Amino acid sequence: MNGSMFFTICSFFYCILLIIIYFSKQRLQLFENKIYVMMMLTNFLVLAIETSTIFLGNNALIIKIFLLLLLLWIIELTLYVYVISNSKEDKKYNGSLKIAGLIYILIAILVICLPLEFENKTGSQYAYGASVSTIFIVSGLCICCCLFFLFRDFKNIKNKKYYPVYVFLGIGALALVVQAINPSLLLASSLETFVTFLMYFTIENPDLKMIEQLNMARDQAEKANNAKTDFLSNMSHEIRTPLNAIVGFSQALMEEDISPSAKDEVKDIVMASENLLEIVNGILDISKIEADKLEIINSEYRLQTILDDLVILTKGRIGEKPLELRTYFDPSIPAYLYGDHTRLKQIVLNLLTNAVKYTKEGHIDFKVPSVQTGDVCRLIISVEDTGIGIESDKIDKLFMKFERLDLDKNITIEGTGLGLAITKKLVDLMHGKIVVQSVYGKGSKFTVALDQKVVATPTKEVVETNSAPSLDKVDATGTTILLVDDNKINLKVGERLLKDCNATITCLDNGFDCLELLKTKTFDLILMDDMMPKMSGVETLHKLKENPNFNIPVVAMTANAIEGMKEKYLNEGFNNYLSKPINRQELNNIIMKYKKK
Ligand code: ADP
Repeated sequence: MNGSMFFTICSFFYCILLIIIYFSKQRLQLFENKIYVMMMLTNFLVLAIETSTIFLGNNALIIKIFLLLLLLWIIELTLYVYVISNSKEDKKYNGSLKIAGLIYILIAILVICLPLEFENKTGSQYAYGASVSTIFIVSGLCICCCLFFLFRDFKNIKNKKYYPVYVFLGIGALALVVQAINPSLLLASSLETFVTFLMYFTIENPDLKMIEQLNMARDQAEKANNAKTDFLSNMSHEIRTPLNAIVGFSQALMEEDISPSAKDEVKDIVMASENLLEIVNGILDISKIEADKLEIINSEYRLQTILDDLVILTKGRIGEKPLELRTYFDPSIPAYLYGDHTRLKQIVLNLLTNAVKYTKEGHIDFKVPSVQTGDVCRLIISVEDTGIGIESDKIDKLFMKFERLDLDKNITIEGTGLGLAITKKLVDLMHGKIVVQSVYGKGSKFTVALDQKVVATPTKEVVETNSAPSLDKVDATGTTILLVDDNKINLKVGERLLKDCNATITCLDNGFDCLELLKTKTFDLILMDDMMPKMSGVETLHKLKENPNFNIPVVAMTANAIEGMKEKYLNEGFNNYLSKPINRQELNNIIMKYKKK
């Protein structure tokens, strides 16, 4: 037995081992993986045939079968390289498979027909002749084709991980040369095994493939999620613009001298728009939470103002229902705290709104006891109702998004099933706790514990901005207001809402004109939209502030905003912030604050 035969036998056992390991693992069924499986099996057959010659001796039939299998393997390798250098869908490779098959058949016929001769050299017998030379030539051509595919599609190659293929091709080319110089060396099959083995360890290991696929799937999911978040935030902006017109004009209409029934209908329009706005905000909030983009923005605030607002809003929601709102606020709570008051308000408002929605009659207890340790005040906010209650086995589902319980009973109650999911996320983000106790049919109690820092000496700004919203009409005679918004309808709404305060209004639809006008004119107040094409409100403000003498108060108006935006705009240098749809009372507050004194 010639020394190279030991190589072959070892390769044979390695090959069996490789096949066992490969098939014992969970695999992907991509086109390239299927070709690799074919390569492994072909390699196995090549080695089996070669090993059999030890016992059966060389004869023309065995050698021809050997050559045909060798040919098959090299064509499979070429197809493999073609597939990895393209990033087409798997189905599209069927044509390439057929072409490869056809080429194989044609060359196989040639190999079968061409002559084969044997020669004995230093004790070992080897084959040569035209059919062997054909295999050499085809192998050389295949290596050239592979290199062509790899270089042509260098940028498209699915993954840098495929770079070892260059090494395999190099080894193949080298082996071809060695085999041509010394035909008795029987290198081909061992080389095949070596390459198949290397492929397993570098690029075809099912574990590696699986990780790669999982990473790709994760990246795609992340991209899709980001696209969804962007879409939702754009959509929210788009919805807010027409809503701004509906709410603004309806509010203005209510102040006109119209019949009581028309007034009622306009009120319903405002209420329906507010509901729609709440839904849009909910969807935007949940998408932000999912994309980890929701931030907690802490600032100083006066708790009593928040609690008063909550009571007013809840009473408004109770309306004519036979429901009593009972409150208890711990008098020892420090007046000024530090935390995210907009989110705090959102959390409690969700609980109070639910209590109103899911309680037909009786009372709602809204209590805020507290525990103070050092400079931290733990607020223990509870909302207890005498409503429909929640079945104990459903409590776990309560905080899941889009989950609405007892739908047969609640079918007439409006809701999206997002409120509590958002509430829970917000409480978690604020490092707080929320617990629910409920007796089905009797009522529920939601308790939230949140730690807020105590502010001993609040800044002047906090004390001023926390004044209660002004419901009265504001008189701003002599005040000049510049309104900048790219949307004509928004300008019309703003103008209409400001009409009653007797201020002099100038409207502009872009930042460039605003910069130009302010070179020659001055105003008492500027209300500026942020989301304007070409030059945003923030950019316009920064340009205005380049002039050290610029001292006109500028209030940001945005439709893309929900909670937490105020702080963002104050940080950008705006003096105040108004969210669209514009709320009449908030607008009044702004005018009161900045009108000509
Ligand atoms: P929505 O109220 O918009 O349906 P939520 O997330 O706020 O969504 O609430 C989820 C579900 O939890 C509600 O559909 C309701 O079945 C139940 N639920 C919430 N609060 C109460 C409550 N105070 N009493 C009874 N059921 C409640």
